[in-house]
Amino acid sequence: MATKLNIKDKYRLLTRDLDWDFDYQDRKEAFPQEDFEGIKITDWSKWEDPFRLTMDAYWKYQAEKEKKLYAIFDAFSQNNGHVNVTDARYVNAIKLFLTGVSPLEYQAHQGFAAVGRQFSGVGARVACQMQSLDELRHVQTQVHAMSHYNKFFDGFHEFPHMHDRVWYLSVPKSFFDDARSAGPFEFMIAIGFSFEYVLTNLLFVPFMSGAAYNGDMATVTFGFSAQSDEARHMTLGLEVIKFLLEQHEDNLPIVQKWINKWLWRGYRVLALVAMMMDYMLPNKVMSWKEAWEVYFEDAAGSLFKDLARYGIVMPDYVETIAKEKEHLSHQAWWIFYNFTHASAFHTWIPSAKELDWLSEKYPSTFDQYYRPRFELAAEMEKAGERFYCSGLPQLCQVCQIPMGFTEMDNPTLISYRDSVYKDDRYHFCSDGCKTIFDDEPEKYVHSWLPVQQIFQGNCGGADVETVLKDYYRINMGADNMEYAGSPDDLRWKAWKGVA
Ligand code: FE
Ligand code: ZN
Repeated sequence: MATKLNIKDKYRLLTRDLDWDFDYQDRKEAFPQEDFEGIKITDWSKWEDPFRLTMDAYWKYQAEKEKKLYAIFDAFSQNNGHVNVTDARYVNAIKLFLTGVSPLEYQAHQGFAAVGRQFSGVGARVACQMQSLDELRHVQTQVHAMSHYNKFFDGFHEFPHMHDRVWYLSVPKSFFDDARSAGPFEFMIAIGFSFEYVLTNLLFVPFMSGAAYNGDMATVTFGFSAQSDEARHMTLGLEVIKFLLEQHEDNLPIVQKWINKWLWRGYRVLALVAMMMDYMLPNKVMSWKEAWEVYFEDAAGSLFKDLARYGIVMPDYVETIAKEKEHLSHQAWWIFYNFTHASAFHTWIPSAKELDWLSEKYPSTFDQYYRPRFELAAEMEKAGERFYCSGLPQLCQVCQIPMGFTEMDNPTLISYRDSVYKDDRYHFCSDGCKTIFDDEPEKYVHSWLPVQQIFQGNCGGADVETVLKDYYRINMGADNMEYAGSPDDLRWKAWKGVA
């Protein structure tokens, strides 16, 4: 009688014995991307399997979670769960999530499938395959959770189309495009380590707690359902970095450069989360500044202390980010307030109570630099002159965010950097983005910058309205513009019986 294997042995057999020797092909040719980044792997057998989950256990476990999750989705829609959120302004936060974040889950699914193919170590291959499956499930459950909102609110209807075209969605999209067009080890440091391990709490916790604080049980539930996957993804991210650093000392400078780059890239994408936390949640969880302190400064502080024994140091620009935490969300929201006519969600000026909350959370900057601006905008709106910027902004060549961030020693001065490459001048929002460009200009000159593409006539029309309507598929007057008086606002008031 065969003895029953325990799960650890099963996993060892799965990841090690699934490999085979190449007798009529050169192993190096079978894994052509494993060398070109300069990473040296001396012994793949030293790879520690981070997931320890066999395929049969995986399917059983995920199916269980799925059953519970979809039962809650059903209950949510049968009970008209959407009318229980704090107010309809909240829904704009999940419009941003569906259009900006869920497609990244799909990008992660494709990315992990692709890099898994490139590793000659079978343990890493299997781990990437499993994460790839998780990510596919994440995008599916998110789309299903939010499909309910699509029946009652504007702005959800064209999310994959918009992700590929709309200017602000180019920020998260280009982040993942950048990672997926890098080599396999850089992808793992970019997504597995920097994103999943270092920054993931700053993306998911704010959205999921935001949902919990604002009565959105559908979103809370998919968050919980993804959490056990996240734990495995974080373990993989940490295993990758330790493995690379233990394999060869020549890997250290390469890995350090990637950590610096991807911390900054990820942080720039999080500008969207910062403004979501401080401006889009009617019931606030904590400020962006507090979140950065808890989830980066405290948590990553001890992580980098751990990594110091390999020679890894804290990424560049952490000091800049620490200064920017006083400004980031206000500057980002102001950009969107100015360009809401070109967005698939609404913006608004915070209420008097919300302005006071911001003053309290940002005592050294808010009243001095931002409150007067918002109060002026509120006055203009009251006078029937709600402000929209009619021009198109210059974009950073690397992070693709409009040039709205400022110098930290003079927060009224827009921060501009530039570099010349092959006789053309390129523009950046920061030293971080400029450094990334200068290291690989031949990559970033290819960036698909939405504003430049509009001006070059590649976005369906010669005027902004045609671009928004036909190329972006924005439902004009419904998806975009000010929240107050929008169809979302009017429907919400009608449901609630408010005049
Ligand atoms: Fe995911
Ligand atoms: Zn930038």
